[in-house]
Amino acid sequence: MIDEKELRKLTRFQSDNPILSIYLNVDPTEHTSEEYLLSLRRILEEVEDEANPEDIAAVRRYFEHEYDWSGRGVIIFACVKADFWRVYPLNIPVASGATVARRPYLSPLAALMNAYGRYAVILVSRQDAQFFLFQLGELVEQQVVAGSQVRKLKKGRGSSGGPGRRGGAPISSRREEEMVTRNLREIAKEAARFSRRHKPQHMILAGAEPTVAQFRDLLPKSLRGKVIGSFGADPGTTKPELLERSLQIIRQAEETRKAEIVQAVFTAASKGREGVVGLDGTLSAAHEGRIRTLIIDRSYRAPGYRCDHCDYLTTQALDTCPFCGGKFIEIPDAAEAVVTKVIEEGGNVEVVDQNPQLAPAGVGALLRY
Ligand SMILES: [Zn+2]
Repeated sequence: MIDEKELRKLTRFQSDNPILSIYLNVDPTEHTSEEYLLSLRRILEEVEDEANPEDIAAVRRYFEHEYDWSGRGVIIFACVKADFWRVYPLNIPVASGATVARRPYLSPLAALMNAYGRYAVILVSRQDAQFFLFQLGELVEQQVVAGSQVRKLKKGRGSSGGPGRRGGAPISSRREEEMVTRNLREIAKEAARFSRRHKPQHMILAGAEPTVAQFRDLLPKSLRGKVIGSFGADPGTTKPELLERSLQIIRQAEETRKAEIVQAVFTAASKGREGVVGLDGTLSAAHEGRIRTLIIDRSYRAPGYRCDHCDYLTTQALDTCPFCGGKFIEIPDAAEAVVTKVIEEGGNVEVVDQNPQLAPAGVGALLRY
């Protein structure tokens, strides 16, 4: 399984040869492997002009003959010429696409690792709790925590109450609530220990709604800050169900995070300082090497021109390059070219799906000073 150390190693890798980066969604609940091979063929066709044919062939060979179609997503970085080949099958969904640059395209992988890398699901009830640690969609740790004492006061007794219940139901139910609170407090302490030991990036709470709310309030502040969502579940919820529900919550959290970045770009752009919106402004900023984070609508494509000497990108049909006097060549997708440029300069790329603010503009960026 890929970890932070491996990601850092990938960050340092670059080559004078083009590196082919492949993200392929292979979720078996959505399509068949034949259909995924077709979508692979489509995304490979899109990068045919820039990619080394040997790399394309190696990727095809891998999916046709080696891959066992387990998991939900596969990431490959290939550069046969530099003897570089990395495959990461993942148990989480990825968005399919191919990119060619002189560095591996790591932004989506880094985002996946931030979101799904290491998170805890706490399934809590009034009596006890189960802690689960998931790493990229795989269960790696599990712990059962029994609260020391919830005697079921009402169970097994006559409905009219007996000795010691002279005050009637209110007293016994109050006593039960006190014990539940004590239990939840113990569970919260244990959760803090679990968190110190395993260092999850996020936490998700599951259980009956009022219990979850009460438990959340009992968590230490530092832990409460890690909670990204909760869902209703009973103590018998299976692990695959917990995984599914938690993946949904993370996906929502990811969408929120991306929407916030888009918002930040538009705000910065409106102040005219550290942001740009639209292809022309983004291409100029890219040429100045000022892009910190590029945001791009997934379906956005735009033809353009590239200077064959200094790589300046523009949407305008100019005779000669204003920077170096070089000649322009027409390229089918200037947006993809700017993605490549930002990757090679070590910036971040956020591919955004169906954001109503970004969609009409297509592309934008947060800038360095
Ligand atoms: Zn030029």
